[in-house]
Amino acid sequence: MIVMKFGGTSVESAAAIERVAAIVKARVDQKPIVVVSAMGKTTNKLLAISQAAIEGRREDYLRQIHDLRDFHSREARLVVPVEGRASLDRCLDDIFDELTELVKGIAVLGELTPRSIDAISSYGERLSSYIVTLAFEHFGLPTTHVDSRRVIVTDNRHTQASPLFPETYQKLRDIVAPLAPLKVVVMGGFIASTETGVTSTLGRGGSDFTASIVGAGVGAKEIQIWTDVDGMLTADPTILPGGHRVKTISFAEAAELAYFGAKVLHPSTVVPAIESNIPVLILNSRRPDVPGTRIVAETVHCTNAVKSIACKRKITLVNIHSTRMLGAHGFLRRIFEVFDRYETSVDMVATSEVSVSLTIDNTAHLEKISQELRAFSDVSTEPEQAIVCLVGENIRFTPGVASRVFSALNGVNIRMISQGASLLNLSVVVADKDIRQAVESLHTEFFTELDPEVFE
Ligand code: ASP
Ligand code: MG
Repeated sequence: MIVMKFGGTSVESAAAIERVAAIVKARVDQKPIVVVSAMGKTTNKLLAISQAAIEGRREDYLRQIHDLRDFHSREARLVVPVEGRASLDRCLDDIFDELTELVKGIAVLGELTPRSIDAISSYGERLSSYIVTLAFEHFGLPTTHVDSRRVIVTDNRHTQASPLFPETYQKLRDIVAPLAPLKVVVMGGFIASTETGVTSTLGRGGSDFTASIVGAGVGAKEIQIWTDVDGMLTADPTILPGGHRVKTISFAEAAELAYFGAKVLHPSTVVPAIESNIPVLILNSRRPDVPGTRIVAETVHCTNAVKSIACKRKITLVNIHSTRMLGAHGFLRRIFEVFDRYETSVDMVATSEVSVSLTIDNTAHLEKISQELRAFSDVSTEPEQAIVCLVGENIRFTPGVASRVFSALNGVNIRMISQGASLLNLSVVVADKDIRQAVESLHTEFFTELDPEVFE
């Protein structure tokens, strides 16, 4: 068995779904379980609909629901045979009637809870998995649909739910594993349900996580994440085009890259896969012949010090300074307690005796956090910063990496530095406006010569 996950762009249209069907067909003897995201930008659209509902913009949400139905119906009709269209339409009517009722209910109540956000955003994957199932059948693949909400069980932290692994693995073994040898199983990513059967979701981008959970649950040989890039690259292509493909990377490096913003993979994806020692492949559904990036449990030998440069943009730097805390203990605890209370996660930290600099991504509670910190320290914040992160297991074994970083970044103002914590990354914070220059200089420094075993 293998798990094949296709993201939103891979199933964004009838043509894209046809490509997916061909890719799956070519691998059908490996007994694939297919996990799909919502089509294109559907999740965003569903969230926009709930926003319009809560703001009482009735015409707006009704029109948006209508457009979403049109879009799904138009694409779906292209992948079902003529005789299947009537039943497709009935099915879409049912689904969209239900969605409309729900959205109207939210508008009436004037209240949008995390639980109702999940209910609404679940429609994207419910629709896509249904349509992909029909399409596969039409393309001659014996297919069966499993509603992920029957098998992925989570806690009730709606919009960010965590799977309850023993229950979920049990259900995957009981329900999905026996089906996969018989038919291609299609499941929606991202969606799940709580122990009491209420629809939940695993958080934005959660379909990769679903794929990984499913793979671990059924004991898959491999988890394939089909996306729209050739794999992990030596630089974020949105910042610096022309990076090289990394052929093999360790789990630890891939996770590090993901935490630092490489868009290719959701960080939590890696966890269930690592624990079960299942390799994860990143592949391009537009170019299925490219071998992609293979993420493996063990360290990969490489003559380059760095494997890839990741960036996390639009972060805020918080500087906390307190001479009152000189020689006193408990300063760090007090600081982190404040961030904890506001459920704000801290990415990078640098400390001295009386000062702490740290970066955060979520600034929703920054006002309140600063206010509380000011009770015992001086606080300043700097928005529009970026973390540039060099990742590679060799960084810790290779002398002189830091000096190469500093000379490459000559002329760029470095606001913060961190090396050591994870042993395989060296990160610097620079102003977001300097990011392109920083990445370009570092890329030239570290990737002019390449280990042919690892890069292409
Ligand atoms: N459809 C969900 C999202 O857009 C999950 C996913 O695509 O991974 O966040
Ligand atoms: Mg995604």
